[in-house]
Amino acid sequence: MNQHTRFNLPICLAVEDDALFHSDAIVRRYIPDIIGQKTIVVSEQFLIDLYKDKITEISRDFGNAEIVAIDSASFDGAVAIAKKVCIEDVKVIIGIGGGRVLDTAKYAAHISKAVYICMPTSLSNDSLASPFSVLETQDMARKTLPCKIPTAIIVDTNMIASAPLGQTLSGIGDTIAKHTALYDWKLSAAQTSSNVDDFAYALARMSYDSVYHCDEKDLKSRVFIRILSRALVMGGLAMEIADSSRPCSGSEHLFAHAIEEYYPQVKISHGLAVAMGSIPACIFQGQSPDGLINFFHTYGLDFSPQSYGITPDMFEDMWLKARTVRPGRITVLNDIQHDRALLDEIYQRMVETA
Ligand SMILES: [Zn+2]
Repeated sequence: MNQHTRFNLPICLAVEDDALFHSDAIVRRYIPDIIGQKTIVVSEQFLIDLYKDKITEISRDFGNAEIVAIDSASFDGAVAIAKKVCIEDVKVIIGIGGGRVLDTAKYAAHISKAVYICMPTSLSNDSLASPFSVLETQDMARKTLPCKIPTAIIVDTNMIASAPLGQTLSGIGDTIAKHTALYDWKLSAAQTSSNVDDFAYALARMSYDSVYHCDEKDLKSRVFIRILSRALVMGGLAMEIADSSRPCSGSEHLFAHAIEEYYPQVKISHGLAVAMGSIPACIFQGQSPDGLINFFHTYGLDFSPQSYGITPDMFEDMWLKARTVRPGRITVLNDIQHDRALLDEIYQRMVETA
């Protein structure tokens, strides 16, 4: 089986200070063909207000591109943009924003076959370069839809440095989750007599290592932002190469999905939810969680369920639901019994050590 003939890689990954003030020059350097092609910019109203200068300049640089504001990451919203792109002969979609905008723009570009340029305003999760979009379908239910990865990723380090710290911490959580995700991937491969894709595994492992072993502890520093943006992009590429989210998503993600689907009232970002899930996942896997706990302390990442209003009863139920949110996905949860006493013990430990 020659499975390495079907993946795409972005043509450009630029991580630069004030990159969004010269994004046209970056695009001209890498993909000159698209200069002059009809373009639209997808963003959110508060970002359009907040980054007025940069977004206006990008619109001007790309032939006075129309700026479209979305207010949620919905399937219908993405389809509406794709329809506009097809009818108006738009060739390029630029997404400027966080997860909601990038998932919408990525999917709209995928179905309309437009070139997609991704410009994140925060580094909150690895969706910026992943081959999936998570979109609301009906009544807040979310679906993960396969799609094409971006053609170009342009990260403005100044913009990321000015984003709320919680978003960067969320991106750190999504990166660190690869530790337990990779363990679960190997476990699943062993149980199904298949192999993990070694190259995708190595990329995801390097993504994790680059952040876990990073000497720079200042989250607003250019060095850290560069390392984290590359780590998130490499995670996305690992999924593209593996043709699966497995290199980046294991039992800790099942826990996060259980919160997202059954406890929408719990206000916790995706990356912090998977960081929280990674500690019990480590324990279930028979690994010590001490390294992760120390790491989260270093960056001030709060992983205590109590801090987010999660009670021991909810915590137990979330792990119960985690077993059923993605049927067919084999993780360590398939190998262990659901154990209330153990979960209570882990909950207490997390509250006390966070
Ligand atoms: Zn994730």
